[in-house]
Amino acid sequence: MSTHPAPVLSVVVPMFDEAEVLPLLVARLRPVLDALPDAYEVVAVDDGSRDQTPVLLQAHRRTWPQLRVLRLRANAGHQAAISAGLAAARGAWVVTLDADLQDPPEAVPRLLEAARTHGVDVVYGVRTDRSSDSPFKRSTAHAYYATMRAMGATGAPDNAGDYRLMSRATVDAVNALPEEHRVLRLVVPALGFPSTTVGYARDERAAGTSKYPLSKMVRLSVDSITGFSSAPLRLATWFGLGGGLVAVALLVYALLAKVLGHTVAGWTSTVVIVAAVGALQLLSLGILGEYVGRIYVALQRRPSYYVAHDSLHDPDSPTQGRSQGRPGQRT
Ligand code: UDP
Ligand code: MG
Repeated sequence: MSTHPAPVLSVVVPMFDEAEVLPLLVARLRPVLDALPDAYEVVAVDDGSRDQTPVLLQAHRRTWPQLRVLRLRANAGHQAAISAGLAAARGAWVVTLDADLQDPPEAVPRLLEAARTHGVDVVYGVRTDRSSDSPFKRSTAHAYYATMRAMGATGAPDNAGDYRLMSRATVDAVNALPEEHRVLRLVVPALGFPSTTVGYARDERAAGTSKYPLSKMVRLSVDSITGFSSAPLRLATWFGLGGGLVAVALLVYALLAKVLGHTVAGWTSTVVIVAAVGALQLLSLGILGEYVGRIYVALQRRPSYYVAHDSLHDPDSPTQGRSQGRPGQRT
């Protein structure tokens, strides 16, 4: 074990099949970090990539001693990959950054400076310009943030994604959370630590394609809602109350019709009522199911990721530090 002290700054970069963008990332990130007066490490979390990403990372490691590679055994997803990086990061400050250069690395010094001058624990990168995102991405993102606010997840700044800087205390707090499938952009604001924001223009993906298909976006939304609010569960109660009122009105109507002799055949109304009530029941059951599912998953306590390899522990690692065999690290 060498005597290298823990770095001041850790930059956590999750990457899944990012071979195309990786050289561009290194070319832009490295000069920015090298220009900082502080010691740093880059924790590249290879989220089970199937392309040349791991090979390229190893190649870059030979010439970039601060680059540390954390390889996950299987694709765990963006949020889990960041969680893995946070658990491994040793810095007094930790920045999380997407690999595709949509979050400009040049803003890292501004994040650090904001944290130090304002004395805060968290600095959110806030997108001041989303014109490079597709209209679909923009409108779904807008709906996502509006829903989350309506559900009571306040404190998350608008248009703050996963480009943020956190203090050691914040990272420790996040790592200590028992919840496995955490959505960091909601979990971090929920801690309520002192924070500030720094604006940046979100660029277009520098190369490659989005690794967020619609299915992963839906998953993130469901995890966000069920992870943060039990309000949807109450929907079923409201449906029940509303349905009860409608039923009373129908009863009055039916009695009146009978008294007045206007008895109708009643087929259409029966079908509609049965279908509507059936649909509401299924919807309520589905909502309930999402929460029961979440409890089930929480009880299983299955880790959301598995680390296959951490280059920090390589015998030749120039960044090797004191954190070897740290308890609680899933290897
Ligand atoms: N990513 C990941 N695992 C996944 C999906 C994505 O680590 O299963 C990474 C990806 O490599 C990128 C970041 O998460 O660094 C954001 O993904 P992407 O840019 O594809 O999402 P978008 O910007 O399209 O929402
Ligand atoms: Mg992207």
